[in-house]
Amino acid sequence: MITIKSRHEIKLMKTAGSIVAEVHEVMKEMVKPGISTLELDEKAEKIIKNNMAIPAFKGYHGFPGTICASVNQQVVHGIPAKDIILKEGDIISIDVGAVYKGLMGDSAVTLAVGKISDELKKLLEITEEALYAGIKEIIAGNKLYDTVSAAVEDKANEYGYGIVKNYGGHGIGRSLHEDPFVYNFRPGTPGPELKPGMAICIEPMFNLGTGNVHTEEDKWTVVTDDGKPSAHFEHTALVTDDGPLILTQI
Ligand code: MG
Ligand code: MG
Repeated sequence: MITIKSRHEIKLMKTAGSIVAEVHEVMKEMVKPGISTLELDEKAEKIIKNNMAIPAFKGYHGFPGTICASVNQQVVHGIPAKDIILKEGDIISIDVGAVYKGLMGDSAVTLAVGKISDELKKLLEITEEALYAGIKEIIAGNKLYDTVSAAVEDKANEYGYGIVKNYGGHGIGRSLHEDPFVYNFRPGTPGPELKPGMAICIEPMFNLGTGNVHTEEDKWTVVTDDGKPSAHFEHTALVTDDGPLILTQI
């Protein structure tokens, strides 16, 4: 079922979203060669708790972290660890969710660690562009897959990136993952019609090589089959009468 948020719920989601955005601002400052992903995780948890919110991922199906920290060939769901130390030239996807008074915000960004190659810069730039191309289609009356999913797919195809098909975006509200599932490609059906009050997470995951991925032995970390790098960006966006509204911003 796709839920329609009340005005009150939207207000709380905006707060949850702004906390998530604050975490990302701090992460951007902290991500440097030499820092461990556990240090990032601990800081993210502090920020969320200082804002009277709860980390949405911690304990979700047993996930141990506040953030998902996915480095290079890791696509999503990387577990923060003190022995994962970032080094110059890496990229890291940081995904974070917060719950404020029962309502959720969820957003991800992929950051460069120091100087990265032009090839990686482009991957990050285009994956983020795909996110915004998708958000642009968060318009009442649009069929989700014909518009949002299609815009994301077109961006990957234009640059020849592999699209991760096993994972995608989702509805969000009182639960982290609600209907509908948001494909990052055209699944062959038009998809549900967008209505004001729906909140949708759009999260393209593009790879330099194949779109095929698998899960590592820790049962969480998703990596590319060919070991090539992957980028991931996400926002929570609301369908309104006046077009898309990004909730995960300050
Ligand atoms: Mg996320
Ligand atoms: Mg998400």
